[in-house]
Formats: sequence, structure tokens, C-alpha cells
Amino acid sequence: MNIQSKGAEPADALVIHQLVKQFGDFRAVNDISLSVPAGSFLVLVGPSGCGKSTLLRMLAGLEDPSGGEIAFEGKVVSSGAGGTLHDSASRHAGLVFQSYALWPHMTVEANVEWPLKVAKWSRQDRAARVTEVLTMLNIAELRDRYPAEISGGQQQRVAIARTIGPRPSILLLDEPLSNLDAKLRVEMRSELMRIHRMTGATSVYVTHDQVEAMTMATHVAVLNKGQVEQFGPPIELLQRPETTFVATFLGTPAANLLPAMRQGNEFWFDGQRIATAPAGMADTQVELLYRAQDIGIGAIEGRPQFTGKFTEAAPIAGQSMVTALVGSMRVTGMVDGYFTAIPGDDITLSLLREPDGIFNQAGRRIDS
Ligand code: ATP
Repeated sequence: MNIQSKGAEPADALVIHQLVKQFGDFRAVNDISLSVPAGSFLVLVGPSGCGKSTLLRMLAGLEDPSGGEIAFEGKVVSSGAGGTLHDSASRHAGLVFQSYALWPHMTVEANVEWPLKVAKWSRQDRAARVTEVLTMLNIAELRDRYPAEISGGQQQRVAIARTIGPRPSILLLDEPLSNLDAKLRVEMRSELMRIHRMTGATSVYVTHDQVEAMTMATHVAVLNKGQVEQFGPPIELLQRPETTFVATFLGTPAANLLPAMRQGNEFWFDGQRIATAPAGMADTQVELLYRAQDIGIGAIEGRPQFTGKFTEAAPIAGQSMVTALVGSMRVTGMVDGYFTAIPGDDITLSLLREPDGIFNQAGRRIDS
């Protein structure tokens, strides 16, 4: 079987090659290929229904692929031709889901020990490993409690301890933090990164939260309609989105895309010239990427400016993120200090620099 997908290194811990999952006529996963080296933290991110969980379930061996292959550490574990060839235990995969699913009648210690029993670890090795993972998760003092006697965040830690106990070489996490409140989520995010560093397990993490994706990942795959829109290190996706979908999905605040007309070597928007077009560009209708920090609030001399109707302002780290409607389009800019205005008031927005990307009408990047 040829699992060597384009760009995959032979040493890659996880290789997904032309993977397809079909439900009737519908392709939930539509020809996905990507690979990551051992120890990576791969985040699958995308809007609801884009196929993240279906892809993860195939990685976990819970779903058979309709086509393509998955290999862990050089071994094909699922194939469109042969279905699921190895269950999650024999593929050394550990699964953490949104619901913790702890055994309610077992103590924390017994919950964590259970998979080690199933894997036939000796009593002595089990005792040592349970103490080790409970300590790693900072829950050693809860070992004699039952799940009903601990908080949601603590239950999630127990679920993670239980999963990493048998030292999986690949860790699969499906929105594991989504049941936690906002503060706990942020704490558990750094906890998970610490655990990832300590265990060294290659991890695949599903989320629809782009902030989680950007903070935790070594590699991000942005999925859209069952396909990979873009795959790479988070900073690369942020700095050079290849599609308008990625440009607007990642980054906080979301980037702006201004529809512009090219006339000769000039881009026009709102009845004025706003930027220089690169030589040799064929497209006349384009979308120009301006990040919020590249749009100032108020008139700035010598810069292209236009008027919008103020909708809202949010304070962020000493600045205000200000949104206005230009026609029916929301445009977000930044200004120092605390900004306020009456909704519906006219405000001036200024473009502080040249656009950070040029996209054609199909949403593909066309500047080099
Ligand atoms: P969410 O963030 O909402 O969990 P997701 O990206 O994880 O979404 P999936 O659960 O992978 O999305 O679903 C992808 C698509 O496949 C959806 O349109 C879903 O309705 C469809 N789908 C998933 N499982 C099945 C199934 N067993 N039968 C038919 N369609 C399915």
C-alpha cells in the first residue's frame, strides 16, 4: 500500500492519505491528505459540520474510511480498501472526548487504573503509573473520591489522566475543553500543552475555537466542507492565508476583506484609489485583506479614508476594537484608548498601509 502522501516524510508519526468518508451521497471527509512528525500537536479547526469529528473518529478507529489510508508510525491502521485494520488499543491511541465518561462507581484512582488493568500491567507498575499521572495532572489528593464528588474541571483532569496512563503514542482529543467555563478553559489549555510536552505523544485536537488552535498547535489544518483549506504552522496560516475563508476564520479580531476594482495599476474602493495593484494582474474584481490593526479610526492625513456607521466598540489591551457598517459590510479597525460613539453615528476609517493580501473572486490568494 502506498501511504507516502505528498510532502510526507518517512518518519512522520501520522500520515493521512487521500482520506474519504461518505455517508450515502454526502462526503463528510473529501480527499484529505496531511502528515505530521512525531510529537506534533495537530489541531483540526473549522466551522460546525466541516468534518473534524468524522476525521478524528476515523483516526480513532471508530469509523471506517470509504477511501484512502491512515498510517500511525509507518503502519497502515485504516484503509478504504480494508476498513479499520487496528482498533484504538492496538494502534496505541488514547481518546479524550467532550464528555468525560468516568465510571461513577469507581474512585478517581480506580478510573485511572482501569485501562492499565485491561492492558495487563502488573499491580506494581499500575500503582506507580497511577501515582505518576495523578501527580502530573495535579489531582493526587483526589484519588479516593468518586466522580460525583469532584468538579467538572477535575473530572476532565481525571479523564485525561486515565487516557495518558497507558502511554499512548498518539492522543486524540475531540473538543475536550468545551464543557468547561471560560477561565477553566484557558487554564486547561496550558495544562494540556504541559502534558503534551511531558508525554511527547503526537496529538490530534479537534476544536471550532480558533484561539485554542492558534495557541496550542504545532500544525493547524483548517477544514471547510470536508476538505483542507490550508495546512501548516499556525503563524504561517495567520501571516499568509491562502484563501479568504482562512483569512477571516483565523485571527482575533477577524480580518477585513474590502471588495475592490482594479483599474490599471490601481485598486479602487468606495469611489477612490486605495492601493497599488501589482504589475501583470489579470483580475479586475478582487478582495483586499486589511487586518483590524491596519485600519485606523478617524481621519489620518495622506491615507485613504472612508465613512462608516458606528456599530460597536470593545476595549482590548489599552486599545478599542471599533466596528462600523460600510454599506452592509462590517469593517473593524483599532484605535488607542477607550472609544465610544452612538450607534449609527458616522465615523471615519483610514487605511494605514497597503493590503496584506489580494484574493480573486473564487477566494484564492493571487498576490505572490
Ligand atoms: P461540529 O463542530 O458541529 O461537531 P464537525 O466538523 O465535527 O462539526 P462532523 O461531525 O464531522 O462535523 O460532521 C460532518 C458532516 O457529516 C456533517 O454534515 C454531519 O451532519 C455529517 N455526518 C456525520 N456523521 C454522520 C452520519 N453517521 N450519517 C450521516 N451524516 C453524518
